[in-house]
Amino acid sequence: MFLPRRALVDEILESEGLDGIVFSHPPNLRFLTGFSGSTGCLLVTSSGVGFLTDSRYTTQARDQMVDVEVREAKILHKSVVEWLTELGCRRVGFEEETLSCSEMRRLREATADIVWVPFERSLQMLRCRKDKEEIATLEHAATIAEAAFTEVLPRLRPGTIERDFATDLEFAIRRNGGEEKSFDFIVASGPRGALPHGIAADRVMQEGDLVTIDFGVRYAGYHHDETVTVALGEVSDTLRSIHDIVLRAHDLAIDAVRPGARIPDVDAVARDYIAQCDYGDFFGHGLGHGLGLEVHEWPSLSARTDSPLQEGMVITIEPGIYLPDVGGVRIEDMILVTASGARVLTKIDKQFRRLPV
Ligand code: ZN
Ligand code: ZN
Repeated sequence: MFLPRRALVDEILESEGLDGIVFSHPPNLRFLTGFSGSTGCLLVTSSGVGFLTDSRYTTQARDQMVDVEVREAKILHKSVVEWLTELGCRRVGFEEETLSCSEMRRLREATADIVWVPFERSLQMLRCRKDKEEIATLEHAATIAEAAFTEVLPRLRPGTIERDFATDLEFAIRRNGGEEKSFDFIVASGPRGALPHGIAADRVMQEGDLVTIDFGVRYAGYHHDETVTVALGEVSDTLRSIHDIVLRAHDLAIDAVRPGARIPDVDAVARDYIAQCDYGDFFGHGLGHGLGLEVHEWPSLSARTDSPLQEGMVITIEPGIYLPDVGGVRIEDMILVTASGARVLTKIDKQFRRLPV
């Protein structure tokens, strides 16, 4: 699994005219080697591959990557430069999105003989197409999410505090085999539903609320992400109607997903429908994002990403409508782009759901 991924990096070395690339962003390390620790540097060069880490992780690294030479580093940046020099590297790529300025400065100060070349986008593009194991892992995370959500659903009722519900959901995820939550859950009830990123707070849920729950399960390093909006008893006609509009926009966008479809066009399918229904001013964020070893990966689904969808990408589709002081709706599923269109990986039913009160 890791050898073919590193072979793709070899192609990048060639096309970018680099002698090597230094990786230290943990999701990239995991993607290229399986290493799951928090600190290390992978050197992929035209004359070999090596991994450096400190004494906390050397045993773990040797267990997790049997085919890569692992050396223990006392001062990481010095060891990186020494090893690159030993391998004869002069032009070396670094991860421009994640390497800090101070780390870059230390590397530069350690040698004047290496030219550092910013690099990242091409690896993000490699990571966006998931292989069979990655898809199965994400789908398993979605199964855990469904089991956990079903378990705590009876606690979604008037009188429940948003934060308590979020905590119960997190426990249920761990009980069902999830290793972690993917991010801080959004539980936004009643008027707080108008906050697209309303982290669970102290509000007490009330009859007549719509409640938006945006949550995620991390499993084997991969991040699931899903949003459900449910009604506590009878809701106003406005709330019911914006739920129907968002669901329709979500369904239309999924129907538009296929390899080769331009991302701005898929985004426009949902956005134009919401605008036709006179709520265009109340859907401000992008339609979705890639995800996997990170909860937000390339591509971002918006008018600004002028790229086509590719078979094997896993993306979210998550339109919403947010009415200040009234409430909001978001509906989010994880979608696999298949040869013939789209397959929904998430399991929770998104039809309008009125819970008993
Ligand atoms: Zn989400
Ligand atoms: Zn999302």
